[in-house]
Amino acid sequence: MPELPEVENIRRALEPHLAGKKVVRAAVRGTGLRVPFPTHFAERLKGATIRQVSRRAKYIIAELSTEEALLVHLGMTGRWRMERDGKSFEPGAFYYQSPMQPKHDHVTLMLEDGTLLAYNDTRRFGVIDLHPLSEVYQSTYLRNLGLEPTLEGLDFEKVRALFAARRSSIKATLLDQKVIAGIGNIYASEILYRAKIHPFLPTHLLSSKRSADKLKLLLRTTVEVLENAVYPTGEPITLRDEFKVYEKAGRACARRDCGGRIRKQTQNGRSSYFCPRCQKR
Ligand SMILES: [Zn+2]
Repeated sequence: MPELPEVENIRRALEPHLAGKKVVRAAVRGTGLRVPFPTHFAERLKGATIRQVSRRAKYIIAELSTEEALLVHLGMTGRWRMERDGKSFEPGAFYYQSPMQPKHDHVTLMLEDGTLLAYNDTRRFGVIDLHPLSEVYQSTYLRNLGLEPTLEGLDFEKVRALFAARRSSIKATLLDQKVIAGIGNIYASEILYRAKIHPFLPTHLLSSKRSADKLKLLLRTTVEVLENAVYPTGEPITLRDEFKVYEKAGRACARRDCGGRIRKQTQNGRSSYFCPRCQKR
């Protein structure tokens, strides 16, 4: 499942191909993905110029000249394919390796410069919807999303207040999209390892005065880990080898002076990876 850095990577790779381009034709196959396609979808897109491509959490937002926004969430298996001059490529492809099957193309857009853009989604958990541009941030998709994990978005006092009310584990809190938007299972483990915080630590303990430095470190680390995973060019990149704990169970802790071994433990139905020695509870 693409996490926030992958989505940002895809956004950056898509934008130069889409910004300023007019949609000359649009088509959908089937009735929808996780939610039904918007009514008259193809007609509403035809003739629209894409002004810019932005992002909120894991939603890609294409702002249209028709004062509507095309809202896209990749779900579990959503991907974009482009075809131009007889060549096919995947903007911002990440660690996906399997070739895309055209039978899973659910939406196709033809741009004025001859580029074909196809949204491909094997499991159809994605979302493609249209909303009035002026209200897109109040849409049901976006209005309840948590803080954006950037230095400006993760305001220390705001986070502290949110954390103070939570008895659940810090790992569960990091995954809760209503608290901080866009962190998934892989990066939650990586962030907690780098900040030396045990994934089972009750969240509210990080809101105490004594834990202020720890919380600041967690916020800084969150931004760093996610930013490090974003690349400016949208080249196909494999990040797996750069993970310190994710899927590294049994390996020696990357901190040489630690001597611990990475442990895998199920937490709320998901796998958590951590070093029990340097991530004290
Ligand atoms: Zn360690």
